[in-house]
Amino acid sequence: MPTVTSTPTVTSTATPTVRPKPTPRATTKPKPQPVRTTSAPVVASGGYVFPLKCKTSYGHSHHDYPATDLFAARGCRFVSPIAGTVDEVTYKDTWSSSSNRGADRGGLSVSVVGTDGVRYYGSHLERIAPGIRPGLRVAAGKLLGYVGNTGSARGIATHLHFGLSWPTRHGTWWVRRGEVYPWPYLDSWKAGGHRSPAAAVEAKRRQVGTYPPCTSYC
Ligand SMILES: [Zn+2]
Repeated sequence: MPTVTSTPTVTSTATPTVRPKPTPRATTKPKPQPVRTTSAPVVASGGYVFPLKCKTSYGHSHHDYPATDLFAARGCRFVSPIAGTVDEVTYKDTWSSSSNRGADRGGLSVSVVGTDGVRYYGSHLERIAPGIRPGLRVAAGKLLGYVGNTGSARGIATHLHFGLSWPTRHGTWWVRRGEVYPWPYLDSWKAGGHRSPAAAVEAKRRQVGTYPPCTSYC
């Protein structure tokens, strides 16, 4: 026996639903959203990547001031660890062993101020990547240069000197070279983590001031 489902009776007298007319908004039109024209970062703001694209080894100490030397083969690609803006670029190696001026010790170098407010510095580069210049917006992972042994690393093993600091006016190389040890953050990024040095860098800046005097290799 087929089941007969009783259909509910629809009363023909039911009042049809009248849609209320939208209230006319004569004057205000919605403003168009601003279109971001800058190159979108590959990794979202705050995302970190390990700064070398080859096999590397580094320790937990550095001579005289906080930094990390990442030993790697000549030509290894150095990339921006975070989205940001290129700060300073040194295109020429002016270091000499006789003068050993602090300002020249880095050789070829690039610094980037990240979206996290931290300045990232890599030096002793063999070569600066094409198009890298101060003011350039970069994504995390953007090629900045190639590992070498320029500056005071001349004649010794090729490595990337990596420094963390706060932004300063240009030429403040004794801050730029490093104020906080990078290795705990490098360990995190290497493992796919996103540990940020921003709080530690800001704490150091509050402790010593934005322009502390140079105390070693000056
Ligand atoms: Zn170093």
